[in-house]
Amino acid sequence: MSDLYWTPQQLAEEAGVSASIVRRWLRETVDRAGESGAWLIDDDLAARVRAHFAATAAARAARPTACSVDGCDRTDIKGRGFCLVHYNRWYRHGSTEKRDGSEHQRAKTHCPHGHKYTEENTIVFPSDGRRRCRACRKQIGKGRP
Ligand SMILES: [Zn+2]
Ligand SMILES: [Zn+2]
Repeated sequence: MSDLYWTPQQLAEEAGVSASIVRRWLRETVDRAGESGAWLIDDDLAARVRAHFAATAAARAARPTACSVDGCDRTDIKGRGFCLVHYNRWYRHGSTEKRDGSEHQRAKTHCPHGHKYTEENTIVFPSDGRRRCRACRKQIGKGRP
């Protein structure tokens, strides 16, 4: 066994495919026994990867390319090498990352004006259980004549 390992990225570049496709093939092909993290591909496995992607090169050439977002293999390319989903995301907020609700999460700890919902700063309306920000109320009060 050699100390030299290959990465999916290296083999992907060799085969002219995306690293996500190589990783997907590895996931489907290799039983990692619950192991996760970076792939360490030894010479044997590298040879299998090369053989597989050499054998499927012709079929790939006939198929549309997959989305350029890592891990996405949708082929409904809309623009900029992105699939429809990722293109729309990119178009909407300039990133192909899924909005994971962190803004929503922040809204739970801060009022819409960025004041923290601390115990002292929070008024909870018993009628609907929603929180109001005391700091904002004060500011509104100040603005009034
Ligand atoms: Zn995509
Ligand atoms: Zn506030």
